[in-house]
Amino acid sequence: MNMNIRADFPFFTMYPGIAYLDNAASTQKPLAVIDAIQDAHVRLAVTPYRSIYTLAERATEEYERARAATASFIGAEHADEIAFVKSTTEGINAVAHAWGRANIVPGDEIIVGELEHHANLLPWQYLAEERGAILKWIRVNFDGTIDPHVLDELFTQRTKLIAITGYSNVLGSLDDIAGKGFLKSVIAHARRVGARVLIDAAQLVPYQTVDVQKLGCDFLAFSSNKMLGPAGVGVLYIKRDRHDELIPFMHGGGMVESVGYKDNIYRPFPYMLEAGTQSVPLVMGWLAALDYINSNIDMKVLGSHCSRLTGYAKTELPDIPRVQLLGPPEVSPHDHLCSFYVDGIHPHDVAAYLDNQGICVRAGNHCAGLLHAKLGIPASVRMSVYGYNTDTEVERLIDSLKKLVV
Ligand code: PMP
Repeated sequence: MNMNIRADFPFFTMYPGIAYLDNAASTQKPLAVIDAIQDAHVRLAVTPYRSIYTLAERATEEYERARAATASFIGAEHADEIAFVKSTTEGINAVAHAWGRANIVPGDEIIVGELEHHANLLPWQYLAEERGAILKWIRVNFDGTIDPHVLDELFTQRTKLIAITGYSNVLGSLDDIAGKGFLKSVIAHARRVGARVLIDAAQLVPYQTVDVQKLGCDFLAFSSNKMLGPAGVGVLYIKRDRHDELIPFMHGGGMVESVGYKDNIYRPFPYMLEAGTQSVPLVMGWLAALDYINSNIDMKVLGSHCSRLTGYAKTELPDIPRVQLLGPPEVSPHDHLCSFYVDGIHPHDVAAYLDNQGICVRAGNHCAGLLHAKLGIPASVRMSVYGYNTDTEVERLIDSLKKLVV
């Protein structure tokens, strides 16, 4: 099924010849989002949470409305389970600092995956080193698959946390690379030993309905800019049961209840992790993105549209001489990306050639350096779609690649 939203995005009027296939990095923005950011700069250019004049209070109310709308979008029970941060990266780092430093002691075990984005790897490597904890690895096979039984051996009574992506930004759905229900199985294993679960949902929440209560995770992070909102807003969900386990790590205005010469009293989550002046205009842009999605996008239709386009690419790519698809060939109902490399041509050269044809794709290690090292390649090319992409755009990619390899 095609989605009829393209006309809402000024990008496509400005660049009519461009096939934008780098949506896993950033999606384009509908006019409603651009307008909301401008409107907030005109109507509400005041600081929230600090003053009692009417406009300042309105800014606070609208910020809280965005928090409540975000909570409801991901099925969180309470609005105060949502903090606004800068990005997924900042959200995961916040958990490493605010929860990790308070709860991880020498000898504790943290499970991470070889396929993780650096944002969900480096914070845990750093924390483990600092705290004397042990990192245990979900290994990826050389064909880009994961053996689902690895979980049975990885979890022990010392496991304190598993930090895992919900959807790989290089290989796609974890359920395809590790078998159906892998994420559910991760959470069930974690519950059994009392470990906490963090989901990097940067590629998950934009493309499928996520219900954090049903999922049963403790922490979850994603970015506004990958789902029609502005860059500079990230969402960090922390389940209420975990709020008492947090300590502040960024100190300053707005996160403290009372200050003395010592023994300050800090405000609880989410304010504890929102020190400094909040960006009302960006959060209003994010709220407009959520409103746009809620009114114009059926997540099931979005998923099937994107997986149909990705499926087409995954079917065609392996038939092109010298083109090697990364990861399993299956397409999941919510797939929106696939990665490949062309034998003998560096991915940067492939992307530069495609750029000349007006096609935007990502080339590099996609901040998943360990995964690329494991697969034995320095980098890859990734195409990723959103609801406004068309069959013709993916066909253009395939046709251009065919011309490149002759
Ligand atoms: N995790 C995954 C799976 C991602 O795809 C990305 C963005 N490429 C990130 C984390 C980091 O997101 P951000 O740059 O918005 O912090």
